[in-house]
Order: sequence, then C-alpha cells, then structure tokens
Amino acid sequence: MAKHTVTLIPGDGIGIETSAAMQRVVEASGAEIEWEIAEAGASMVEACGTPLPDSTIEAVRRNGVAIKGPVTTPVGEGFRSVNVALRQALDLYVCLRPVLSIPGAGGRYDDVDLVIVRENSEDLYAGIEFEEGTDETRELIEFCRSAQAGAIRPDSGISIKPVSVTATRNIVRYAFEYALAHGRSKVTAVHKANIMKHTDGLFLRVAREVAKRYEGRIEFDDRIIDAFCMNMVIDPTQFDVIVFPNLYGDIASDLGAGLVGGLGIAPGANIGDGCAVFEAVHGSAPDIAGKNLANPTAEILSAAMMLDHLGETACASRIRKAVCQVYAEGSVLTADIRKATGSTHAAASCTEFTDALVAALTS
Ligand code: NAD
Repeated sequence: MAKHTVTLIPGDGIGIETSAAMQRVVEASGAEIEWEIAEAGASMVEACGTPLPDSTIEAVRRNGVAIKGPVTTPVGEGFRSVNVALRQALDLYVCLRPVLSIPGAGGRYDDVDLVIVRENSEDLYAGIEFEEGTDETRELIEFCRSAQAGAIRPDSGISIKPVSVTATRNIVRYAFEYALAHGRSKVTAVHKANIMKHTDGLFLRVAREVAKRYEGRIEFDDRIIDAFCMNMVIDPTQFDVIVFPNLYGDIASDLGAGLVGGLGIAPGANIGDGCAVFEAVHGSAPDIAGKNLANPTAEILSAAMMLDHLGETACASRIRKAVCQVYAEGSVLTADIRKATGSTHAAASCTEFTDALVAALTS
C-alpha cells in the first residue's frame, strides 16, 4: 500500500478531540498516512496576524488532500470564516455531503441514502458585504434607487448574492457526473427562482440546460427550497442527488443530518480540480468542547471519504463497516446518539467510542 501525505488541520473546539479520534481510526484501518499538521483559527491571529496562514493554504495545495476539524468563526464581528476563506483560496467549488442512515444512530428514517451537492464559492457566502452606515453602503443604496432597482432603508446592512452561469454550470455538471459515476438515477435542483429571478432563476435555467445533456441517462427535476424542506421531512427517500446554491445547501445539510441522527454522524468534503479538503458538517460545538463528549463519527466518515478519494477503498470500507457494527451493537454510544435513540446505556466518551471502533477494526 502506498503511503499518502495528508494535511491535517485539527481546527479548534471539538475539532481537537474528533481529529485525534479520526487519526486513531484511520491508523487502525491499515491506511498508511503521513499527517502534516497545519493550523488555522483564532490561535493563529496573534502569531501570524491571520486566522488562515499562507503556510496552511500552501500545505493543502502541496499535498492535494487535507482533512480538517471545525474552526470557530466569531458571530457578527471579528475575522471572517476560515472555512469560507479556505474554500475560496483553493477554489474548492464543490461541497459534497452524503446523508445516509446508520441503523442504531437514532435517525427518524432507516432508509435515507441521498447526496447533497452544494455550490461552494458564491451566493451569499461570497463575503461581499456592506456595513450599515458607511459611505460605500450609502452609495450602493443611492445606486439601487437611481437604477430603479428598489428602495433600501438607509439604516440597512447589505450582503450581495452573486450566482454565475460558470459556477452553476460547474456544480450542476459535477452533480450529474457524480450521479453517473455512483450509479444514481436522479438529480434534483433546489432554488427560489420564483422570487430571485436573476440569481436562483439563473441557477434553474442553467441546471435545466445541463440536465438536457444527460437526458435518458439521469432523471432531472427541481424544487423550490421551502417545499423541498417540507418534502425532505415527510419523505427524504424520494431524493437521490440534490444540487443547491451555497446557502440553501448549507441549511439543507443540517436538515439532512437531523433526519438520520444528527450532526455527530454527518460527513462531508470540499472538492476542487486540484485539491480536496474533507470535513464534517458540524462546527466546533463550543458547548461541549474539551469535555470528551463529542461524537467523532462525522470526522471519521469524512476520513473514509478521503480514503476513497486516495484510492484506499478497502480501508474506507473497513471503517464504514466498523462504524455500522458499533452503532448496531448499541452499547457504546456518545451522548448525542444516546439522546436520539433513547438508549439506557451510559453515554460513552469520545475516547470510549473511538476505542470501540478501533477494537472493531483490529479484532
Ligand atoms: P455546531 O455544529 O458546532 O453545534 C450545533 C449543536 O450540535 C451543538 O449543540 C453541538 O454540541 C452539537 N454538535 C455538533 N457537532 C457535534 C458532535 N460531533 N458531537 C456531538 N454534538 C455535536 O454549530 P454552532 O454551535 O452553530 O457553531 C459553533 C461554531 O462552529 C461557530 O463558530 C461556527 O461558525 C463554527 N462552524 C464551523 C464549521 C467548520 O469549521 N466547517 C462548520 C459549522 C460551524
């Protein structure tokens, strides 16, 4: 087996605990990984003047593959999201988030198997924002008024929502190619084209154009985001591959995670043409950080996606099998899953859960 060098960004909060657990499990799977540790987050601001040092971006670029724990973003003030900045710096335009039922994980459904494909580079996440009360914001408000685009209250802050033909074409094409490569039969595009005609309307128009090229091979339909949410809750099994603009994709990822057992088990990947960064859907969970309570499954399943990407499919399968085994046995479950399942066993710590996985992999 070839040895792979992977950049590991442990992140902060529960990322410290889940990343350590992930490393132990990947090692127990037999995969040969050399971890190159790179840092990001608030602790870097003092040392490097930025939460995302160039050396971290360069490390990911050099190795082509990284796995990342969550990084805390100050809410409403302070530095901008490291996660968004990393995706933009490396042009990781695809966010891939499988939503899969794990029997024993306390999901509301036992048979969910869908994939969220979220555009990762633009929309309201582009970071083009105008602060309330500044000269630039006043100018923008005046421009909108004079262009008869609409009246904006003078005490408004403004976020811009760009949606391009290029990015939409790329993400929708990715969703169809993913469906073909993984034996899936349908792609659904989700939007709010009835209200935002020049952004979501564009997304839908381009999605329909791309879908034509796959006619007869992959089915295509579309949903308005609010109706989609209701349909997901009523019957998520009606969906297969679902492609979203950035913000709806983010929200739908948590909705999907909630239907199958919660954020503790939801993995993901950010993919570009040259690099891939694997990371769980969840954030740094400050409420439980440092207490050995976190569920590391999401980061461990993200590592399984990473091993598939590296061609180590046997190791990835071993990890998924071990995860299914531990959940099916049901005696070693972290607090989040214990709550979701109503289990009467005492909650396992992050370490105890990881011990059980390592034992399942090595016995
Ligand atoms: P969160 O995902 O961190 O937590 C939401 C809830 O889910 C909390 O109650 C938490 O305890 C629980 N939870 C999350 N992951 C869990 C796990 N693995 N095991 C058990 N319980 C888990 O979302 P939040 O509280 O909105 O965000 C906290 C911070 O994380 C914010 O600063 C946010 O910006 C950041 N964030 C980072 C990323 C990322 O780095 N990719 C993603 C989302 C949020």
